[in-house]
Amino acid sequence: MSAAYPFSAIVGLADLRLALVLNAVSPAVGGVLVRGEKGTAKSTMVRALAGQLPEVAVVPGCRFSCDPDAPDPHCPDGPHDAAIGGSARAARLVELPVGASEDRLAGSLDIERALTEGVKAYEPGLLAAAHRGVLYVDEVNLLHDHLVDLLLDAAAMGTSHVEREGVSVRHAARFLLVGTMNPEEGELRPQLLDRFGLTVEVAASREPRERAEVVRRRLAYEADPDAFAARWAGEDAELAERILRARTALAHVVLPDAELERIARVCASFEVDGMRADLVTARTSIALAAWHGRTEVTAQDVRRAALLALPHRRRRNPFDAPGLDEELLDEALRDPDEPEPEPEPEPEGDGPDDGGPDGGGSPPSDADGPDGSNGSDGSGNATQAPKSTEAAPGSTPGTEDASVEGAPAPSGTGREQAAVAAAEPYRTRLFSVPGVGQGAAGRRSRARTASGRTTGAQVAAGRVTRLHVAATVRAAALHQKARGRTGAGLVLRRADLREAVREGREGNLVLFVVDASGSMAARKRMSAVKGAVLSLLLDAYQRRDKVGLVTFRGADAALVLPPTSSVEIGAARLAALPTGGRTPVGAGLLRAHETLRVERLRDPLRRALVVVVTDGRATGGRDALGESRRAARLLAATGVASLVVDCESGPVRLGLAARLAGDLGAPVVTLQELAADGLAGLVRDVRSVA
Ligand SMILES: [Zn+2]
Repeated sequence: MSAAYPFSAIVGLADLRLALVLNAVSPAVGGVLVRGEKGTAKSTMVRALAGQLPEVAVVPGCRFSCDPDAPDPHCPDGPHDAAIGGSARAARLVELPVGASEDRLAGSLDIERALTEGVKAYEPGLLAAAHRGVLYVDEVNLLHDHLVDLLLDAAAMGTSHVEREGVSVRHAARFLLVGTMNPEEGELRPQLLDRFGLTVEVAASREPRERAEVVRRRLAYEADPDAFAARWAGEDAELAERILRARTALAHVVLPDAELERIARVCASFEVDGMRADLVTARTSIALAAWHGRTEVTAQDVRRAALLALPHRRRRNPFDAPGLDEELLDEALRDPDEPEPEPEPEPEGDGPDDGGPDGGGSPPSDADGPDGSNGSDGSGNATQAPKSTEAAPGSTPGTEDASVEGAPAPSGTGREQAAVAAAEPYRTRLFSVPGVGQGAAGRRSRARTASGRTTGAQVAAGRVTRLHVAATVRAAALHQKARGRTGAGLVLRRADLREAVREGREGNLVLFVVDASGSMAARKRMSAVKGAVLSLLLDAYQRRDKVGLVTFRGADAALVLPPTSSVEIGAARLAALPTGGRTPVGAGLLRAHETLRVERLRDPLRRALVVVVTDGRATGGRDALGESRRAARLLAATGVASLVVDCESGPVRLGLAARLAGDLGAPVVTLQELAADGLAGLVRDVRSVA
């Protein structure tokens, strides 16, 4: 196995570097959530953290990493003899794949062996492996629901508990939780969000020299990982040494009352829930002081800690962007008794945050030789160009366009209308997808899953993890005589074993097909339509559905939002949606058809619900109405569940949406009937069509 990428060699990412180091200094800080786009080396850096963690002392042979000084009294491998002593091993960073099984995470109890051989066999899972180390989840926002529940339980209790058919095992599971996520792919549940001590936003550098350095080091590493790691070993060892020193110093750091009050003031002014924010900010401030070799927490420590600990704890609704208003923060940080707020200088220059490549003459930069020998040597100076690219500040070529874009489009010129704000969202009725599928966990339709309610039993195939006891006993009972049973116990064979068939709820894909044409464009009406779609989006968010948005207006239909788990983006696209022009209903439905075809290839288990929001008036080509009806029948032929929201209003109603619904084989509801508390008697659910 080749050497891992060294922690010290990673360019930039100062906040992430600091957050990880602070957790290594003080595990009580509670982990890090890393938010950012793909390709920012955030995972590389997290993985490299393992090499920087101090060693842990363990009881030899214990699979649950018991501390020799305080062994877990419930340890399944215990009880441990105090005289046995301890041995040191490297701290672990354990990766949890987002699609892992429950058994993989919590461990598995081998019921087959337990029953047929009378042996209680427990195979530890990732929670056991991560005890006293780091549990790392890449793309944590995509983690399956049942794993999130297990994780939250373990994190809250500090133990993992596995129970199968009355046999239970319990062991300690305390770990730093580190997760990365791309917010464009969906947000985290608030309870899980709260489990991360700190949060950091990362983005790739826009600085050409830094970008070049990233690539240079990456190439050098790929060319010879071991030599590259060896070159950085000194830096990494120094950092590990400093972390160890800071960890020892932690107990001697004083948090003065004035600073503790500052922390309380900040947390109160950001209206965070509960007391966790205060605690994490205090612990982080203390770790910062220790890291900088100080014995007392300063106001600057508190500010830095708040920036890391608070952004994800503000009470907010799901569509708000995360982040912290720094002006508000500085306001809250100010001591009301202090005379004048003096501008504080940037933190000391000895942090891990400034040991990057921009440090210039650090030993590693001359050690970068090998990649120079790849033929690019000497020409590296070319990257000094940035000055020229930001030249000519006076010339503003974009100004003219910007003013046109910024201003509301003139009405009455026949051009499109500017975006209309959405009406307030409300709770919608549940529209479900009929039948039973195999999709990801969620709440809109039923699916065969590893968790959920037991609905039957089947002959066990492979290793048995979900034994159906009654069915197994029934199967075995038939053969007891033939097997020559004499004692009290049942004589079991492998072939008797039956496993439970479980059914849970699955998340779906809800594809909105929204009419944004002129016939819908009356201001008040479009506002109501947007409010309705926003409400349905909120509902989809709560049910962990993927959402997509197709709109049609003017000459064509567009896939405004490709299927994503990020309902936030859906809401943003909807808010900015302009309206006007003709009504190519058929084009909208065809676009939906194509989108679903692609999505079936990409995510075949997730079943779709198409929600068409229109007044049903098709205008556009010669045969607009015919086109729309043919497209509707084509879509219906794929068997997809759909729903039409009829937006027609006014004294004369044509009932076109209802006809469209007929072609789609879909129920139709009016805007008013969408609300959960509106007209409960009018239940024309999707389910009734099944
Ligand atoms: Zn143990």
